[in-house]
Parts: sequence; C-alpha cells; structure tokens
Amino acid sequence: MTRFTPENPRSDFSIFTHHADLVYLDSTATTHKPDGVLDAMAAFLKEKNATVHRGIYGLSVEATDRCEHVRQQVKGFINAEKEEEIIFVKGATEAINLVAHSYGKAHVGKGDNIVISHMEHHANIVPWQQIIESEDQLRVCQITDEGELDLEHLKTLIDNQTKIVALTHVSNVLGTVNPIKECISYIREHSSAKILIDGAQAIAHMPVDVQDLDCDFYCFSGHKMYGPTGIGILYGKHDLLLKMPPYQTGGDMIEFVSFEKTTFAKPPARFEAGTPAIVEIIGLGAAIDYIQGITLERLQEIDMELFELANTELQSIPELNLIGTAAHKSPVFSFTIKGIHSHDVGTCMDQEHVAIRVGHHCAQPLMKRFGVPATARMSFACYNTSDDIERAIKALKKTIGFFI
Ligand code: PMP
Repeated sequence: MTRFTPENPRSDFSIFTHHADLVYLDSTATTHKPDGVLDAMAAFLKEKNATVHRGIYGLSVEATDRCEHVRQQVKGFINAEKEEEIIFVKGATEAINLVAHSYGKAHVGKGDNIVISHMEHHANIVPWQQIIESEDQLRVCQITDEGELDLEHLKTLIDNQTKIVALTHVSNVLGTVNPIKECISYIREHSSAKILIDGAQAIAHMPVDVQDLDCDFYCFSGHKMYGPTGIGILYGKHDLLLKMPPYQTGGDMIEFVSFEKTTFAKPPARFEAGTPAIVEIIGLGAAIDYIQGITLERLQEIDMELFELANTELQSIPELNLIGTAAHKSPVFSFTIKGIHSHDVGTCMDQEHVAIRVGHHCAQPLMKRFGVPATARMSFACYNTSDDIERAIKALKKTIGFFI
C-alpha cells in the first residue's frame, strides 16, 4: 500500500529531506516520486524479481500477475473499456511514435492531412513529419495571443482528407487546458479522422475518462505523474488496435514464428515487443495508488491554490511578461524578463536553490510564435507550498534587481 498524506503531501517525498532547502518548480519536466513508489520498486527487485510471461515458476507467474494488475489499474484510472486497450510503452514520446508509424503509415497517403496545433511538444510534431511526403500534409491550428486554441481555425483545417488529429490536452509551456472534448465532438461530426490526445501534462492534474472523451488514442508518461521514468501508456480503442500492424517486432509480440512466416499476437502484446520495463510498471501502479490515495480532487485543490497565488505574484512583477494567459490553465508559468536572458534567470534562481526550467521546452515553433528564443518556466505539483512560491518570487526579484 502506497503511503499518502493528503494534508501534507510533501512529507511523502524523501527528496525534500535530502534537500531541505530545495524549491522544486520543474514538475512539468518530471515529478519527484513519493517514497511509496520507490519502496514498491525496491521491494519488487529485492524480494520478487523475475521476468514476465511464459514463466512456469512461481516468481515469474507472480511478476506477470503484478504487471497485468497494473494494466487493470490503468484501465480503471482512465476508464478504458478493456484492459487490451492499455499498452505499456516507454513514455508519451514512444506512444506517439507507435501510433504514427503503425496507424499513420498505414492510413495517411498522398493528399491526406494530419492536424496538430501550434502549442504541441516536439513529441507530437516530429513523429508526424516522419510519415508524410510533403510538408503541406501537416496542418497546424493557430493559437491566440493568450495561448488558447483558435477553434474557428481548427474547424477550417478539418476535411474529409484529414486522417489524424493530434492535440495536447495541456500545454507544457503555456499551461493551457484545451477544450478537447469539444474539439473531439466537432472532429467526429465533420470527419472520420482518428484522434490522439497527448495527456502527458494532464494525467496527474485532472480526471481523464477516455470513453467520455471518445478519443481514439490517449498517451502519457509515468514520470510526470509521480512514477518512474521508462514507462508510459498508450491507450487505443480496441477495434483500432486490432487492425494496426506492429511498431516494433521481436520477442513477446508474436503468435507463431517460422523462417517462412511470422504471425503476430493480439493487442496489447502485439505492441509490446521485448522484455517490458517490469519494475517501472510496478512503480507506475504504485504511483496510481498514490494519486488515488491523495485523490485527484485534492490534487486539483492544491493546483488551484498554487495557481492563484503564483499567478497573482508573478503578474505583479512589472518587468515580467507572462506567456500563456488562457482562461483555463494548469499551474505552469512561462515568462520572460525584459533585459535578462532566461538562462541567466535560471542560473540566478538556482543560486537561491530554486529549480526552474529555462529554454525552448521542446516547443520551438511555439517559441517562434511568441517571438522569443526561450522562456523561464515554473511548474507545480502536490509537494509545493506557498512557502515555495514566496521563496521563488523573492529569488526572482533579487535576480531582477541584480541585472536591472
Ligand atoms: N508531450 C508533452 C506535452 C510533454 O510535456 C512531454 C514531456 N515534456 C512529452 C509529450 C514527452 O514526454 P516523454 O519525454 O516522457 O516521452
């Protein structure tokens, strides 16, 4: 059972006892892991280690059961209809590559198009570029100056040649929470395009119900939801997965192999070639336990409190230009400071033990859209407190005072 402390989640994370002075504001890049997740992974390795599938001995059977239990947990967590719809992958990046190279390559031909948005992470841009023949097949939905999807523009991009629409649920730079349900119902009414939602920044912050959303694919990474790196999930509708060719081939994904001909296993095994990330899957299960223990309602409450406070404080700094002021936002704040390079902001903040991210955040087209080479970014998770915000603002003001 993963220990959780809804009234003080910070106490669940040992990293803060090792770094008592740390103000960690980079959870969008990766979250810390609660002790319950680390303990579950260590206990598995110390007491139960074995590989999964085809094992005839007890430990292997147990390891297989544990991994399949996590598949069930994920199914419940995102309300998928069937456990076969849950595919273990390395992370959101691998999930999108899988869909692009499997479904995309088989269905996007000459004259067809793929629609994405201007706020996508490189992980939801580059894989699509790899499977099209000409650049005009990739259509990009504009965003407003506030950092919201331009829904009217989106409508003009969808036609009967649109084969895939791939949109982020929450922007890792702007914090914008996109109205994906509304987008999906429009797309469904006006085309037969398949819809992929990149949930990397949503999954630890809001309830996700893939049946209610009616998306075809939904993906996320374990390490952004209090779990380990090296594990993520691709959800895909079962009837679609059944028709999709494998992405990677080798062990574990076959039905029968001979030198003349190989047949493939049914999903999800068809898409899980090779030995899976067993201990990371166990860790992901413990991370889901953690989130469900704290509850998503409580996590949203914490997000809201941190958002309100940080937003007010940041907006009151005259030299600061906030990029992304959508009406519906997650606690992610990207900004530039007039006259100071973002990298200098990050370095100075680090001297005050405030860890923020600076750079293009794997969203170079978005940087270009706002006319900046880079931004500084503060992002929050359940272990952050109002003290963290106070210290971050103090460090930011000191930085500004130093340069200006
Ligand atoms: N999409 C978004 C919105 C992200 O923020 C990230 C990670 N920053 C990714 C995709 C890729 O995730 P990963 O690197 O874990 O595969």
